[in-house]
Amino acid sequence: MTAEPVIDAADSPTCDSSSAVRASLSPSRAADFKTCPLLYRFRSIDRLPERPTVEQARGTLVHAVLERLFDLPAAARTPQSAGDLVAPQWDRLVTEQPELATLFAEGDTEGPAEFLRSAAALLEGYFAVEDPRRLEPAEREALISAVVDDALLIRGYLDRLDVAPDGALRVVDYKTGGAPREAFEARALFQLKFYALVLWRTRGVVPRVLRLLYLRDAEVCDYTPDAEELLRFERTVVALWQAIEQATERQDFRPRPSRLCDWCNHQALCPSFGGTPPPFPATGPGDPLTDARSRPAAPGADE
Ligand code: SF4
Repeated sequence: MTAEPVIDAADSPTCDSSSAVRASLSPSRAADFKTCPLLYRFRSIDRLPERPTVEQARGTLVHAVLERLFDLPAAARTPQSAGDLVAPQWDRLVTEQPELATLFAEGDTEGPAEFLRSAAALLEGYFAVEDPRRLEPAEREALISAVVDDALLIRGYLDRLDVAPDGALRVVDYKTGGAPREAFEARALFQLKFYALVLWRTRGVVPRVLRLLYLRDAEVCDYTPDAEELLRFERTVVALWQAIEQATERQDFRPRPSRLCDWCNHQALCPSFGGTPPPFPATGPGDPLTDARSRPAAPGADE
């Protein structure tokens, strides 16, 4: 990667580590509230379980393979090596998350086989847009965090961070979902800007490129943020948090139906679909570091 840092570190804002963190937020949970306040409530306050879907499992598997691929020496990062990682990584994931085994009926051998083939097909999409033999990522599946507005901890897992010799940063996010891209693109960009804001606040450099790699379509979408935009985005995140606090105080999280309802686990409890939400849980102020509102989604699980 070759790129110039967009701003000088000396001119950039810094994170005050002595701040008293009062609350925390992850990009996935913030994006939930932006998408639909009631979805946010179901996931972060009611903490309703969600059944894993085949698509999410495939996303987690492909992210795991790409993560491990970069453990290999550069010359060995071939399509064949990636393909060879698919089955062992799936076995590892099922051992760690036994609920994944329930995605396929007992005795169904064709379903899992087709699942592994479809994951391998997504990896072919990856190799169509990148040559991992030419890359040495600085970080993979890294948890990054920063404090904004003196009190709000923002944090999330980025898929990959590339750093050029001149210090320029490129944030890379793998997208494996099969849903129409336009339905999720705004959410994906919101998450990438979230990472860009964290990196700017902690490293003093605005990432040169925010890159979405759509593996199914074998397409790359690059976005170049600037400092002004990230300042505005920071205000948006703080305002979003204030709106979440206010909604929590009023116990008022309204549904906001959209195309994304098709992928929502909670239609049966949603008034927009004739359902009734459960009683609002009695909760005290959560620990900002363990609060579900701040819990970042695992890489690939939020496709
Ligand atoms: S079904 Fe739609 S409106 Fe209802 S909670 Fe889910 S995303 Fe929100």
